[in-house]
Amino acid sequence: KMHVRLVFLGAAGVGKTALIRRFLQDTFETKYRRTVEELHSKEYEISGIKVTIEIMDTSGSYSFPAMRKLSIQNSDAFALVYAINDPESLEAVKSLRDEIMEVKEDKFTPIMVVGNKSDLDGERQVSSENVLSTLEMDWNNCLLEASAKENSNVMEVFRELLQQANLP
Ligand code: GDP
Repeated sequence: KMHVRLVFLGAAGVGKTALIRRFLQDTFETKYRRTVEELHSKEYEISGIKVTIEIMDTSGSYSFPAMRKLSIQNSDAFALVYAINDPESLEAVKSLRDEIMEVKEDKFTPIMVVGNKSDLDGERQVSSENVLSTLEMDWNNCLLEASAKENSNVMEVFRELLQQANLP
């Protein structure tokens, strides 16, 4: 029996809850409800092995740094989410990434950077180039744009995370 924990981090309002809800229930809500911290879990059977996937939805608020540190310590893979129409949310991704590196020290840690709300291309303020230079990444296989609203690339985000977390 295997067990994997994914955690979604990012500024408030970027769509973490929406991405998780799209994955788990294939639905989308336009109403905004504030999340503090919520743990979802789903059982899968992959090649005859029972796998429990736990998904942690977190608050973008910085009023719970100790909670965030704890969820970082207890997680196998991370989705760092920004919104393509919100440059400040990319800055938040940068500091979260640095915080993960600090908590996890030198251990290999799968991180996917997710640019959500790709359906709002007309309001775009963040390009892939901006992401690569802000995060000082020179490759982009850990970066995906997605839309929880239009169900674009959401499954791919989870597939990548699970693959990097070494599931069968
Ligand atoms: P969270 O605070 O990061 O969990 O953000 P939510 O999932 O609660 O979403 C915040 C707001 O953005 C809500 O009003 C959602 O309906 C909206 N939203 C989430 N994902 C998308 C998306 O892919 N496209 C658009 N246009 N809006 C989205």
